[in-house]
Amino acid sequence: MDCCVCTTMPLILRPPRNTICGACYEGARNMINMMNNLQSDEKAKAITNTNTSQLSKQNTTKTIDDCIRWCSELIDMFNQQKEELAYLSGFVVAFKEQIHTDIFVNPGINGSPIPAHKFVLATRSEIFKNMLECDDCKSSPNNTITIPDLNHEELESLLEFLYSGTLPTQTLEKHVYTLSRAADKYIIPHLLKHCERHLLSSLNISNALETLDVADSCSNHNLKETTLNFLVKNFEHVVSSTKFEAFVHRSPHLTVQLVTRAFANGAK
Ligand SMILES: [Zn+2]
Repeated sequence: MDCCVCTTMPLILRPPRNTICGACYEGARNMINMMNNLQSDEKAKAITNTNTSQLSKQNTTKTIDDCIRWCSELIDMFNQQKEELAYLSGFVVAFKEQIHTDIFVNPGINGSPIPAHKFVLATRSEIFKNMLECDDCKSSPNNTITIPDLNHEELESLLEFLYSGTLPTQTLEKHVYTLSRAADKYIIPHLLKHCERHLLSSLNISNALETLDVADSCSNHNLKETTLNFLVKNFEHVVSSTKFEAFVHRSPHLTVQLVTRAFANGAK
């Protein structure tokens, strides 16, 4: 069919050159619907008592031109946020170059203390804030606190995250389980969410049991449910893996939950 939108040679089309193929029609409708949905979500959030049916009526007159304008507004907003993020993550330079540090953070096992800034620790974690305010820390001659559950490398990654709000993928991959537990223990919700996103996107048969352990110990309902469902779907592969036996000994309560769900699913 001649389509005036997706053809590579619009000039060869017969006049009035206004026919459009099914794919282009569907694409245009979907684009307009997506914009309407996102905009009514935004408006509904902004105006709590607004009648949403009124909103959708207002939005039905949108055109593709509106979509393009809306996309370019979003791109501007995105670029502005990128600049703001780069500005805020500039704190990490003060950490890496040890500029005016005022506290030493000791890892639990081995390793030398890491210089950091009290205000970063205190603003990123309520627990760290309390630790810094306790008398032991104040009276400590070297101004130190100890994070007993992390080794030197893990602690360095945690601190880097507190300064920059993100981590290189390789670092995250290597320490994601330890960092998830630390985020839960020291109440750092942004890190917990960051780890959750990584764990969900990298979920596979070889790491699912460890992910389930972490999700359970951090009381992360969403991650636990997704992982349990994934394990049930791949139950045969999981039970025959070498890691399963260790998992049964390590987490008998999770084994019961997993097996019960797998059998209930099989019975259906
Ligand atoms: Zn087309």
